[in-house]
Amino acid sequence: MRGGKLIVFSAPSGSGKTTIVRHLLEQEKLNLAFSVSATSREPRGEEKDGEDYYFISAAKFKKHIKDGDFLEWEEVYRDNFYGTLHSEVNRLWAHGKNVIFDIDVVGGLRIKKKYPEKTLAVFVEPPSVDELKIRLKKRKTESDEKINMRIAKASIEMATASQFDHIIVNDNLDKALEEAERLVAQHIDKEENESKAREEE
Ligand code: 5GP
Repeated sequence: MRGGKLIVFSAPSGSGKTTIVRHLLEQEKLNLAFSVSATSREPRGEEKDGEDYYFISAAKFKKHIKDGDFLEWEEVYRDNFYGTLHSEVNRLWAHGKNVIFDIDVVGGLRIKKKYPEKTLAVFVEPPSVDELKIRLKKRKTESDEKINMRIAKASIEMATASQFDHIIVNDNLDKALEEAERLVAQHIDKEENESKAREEE
């Protein structure tokens, strides 16, 4: 666990946070590893078990809740459960990694509350709810009903933005990527400098 930092990216779905998280994972100097969440939803498109999510049944998910296996979990959409397993974070920390999360706003804030010093919590804001609708429709991986469910949730999620350490408005992807990289590097350096200072005392 020693030295492990936590980086949370939360946002309404369709705001581009997954693209940002993928870009950050490619930056070797940041030493990041992706926290693979467990979910009871069906795989979409090219998603792979154990890479994008651990796809498990609702029954198995509920058993993990009962056994206290989750650091945080949410019924993000009705009957669709998502959660971060303690075992996942411990596994990545054991590899000396900084752990990055692509999770919903409630889960993100919960992690920040549990680990206030270690965690950088970033909210990615889409330029507008209309733009979000366009992006979700373009994705063409889900029914209109599911898309509407996501849009309804987006407005509620946007209201939590101020509780995060930083807000990135994703109206220009290149700028958003640059800002994300800078914030994460700063967070990692800050903690390293602080622990170095402590060691020198
Ligand atoms: P999607 O179905 O689009 O992959 O994800 C739906 C929402 O659930 C997204 O906002 C995603 O970030 C969030 N999510 C994914 N994994 C987790 C998790 O482990 N915990 C929580 N609270 N939300 C998650």
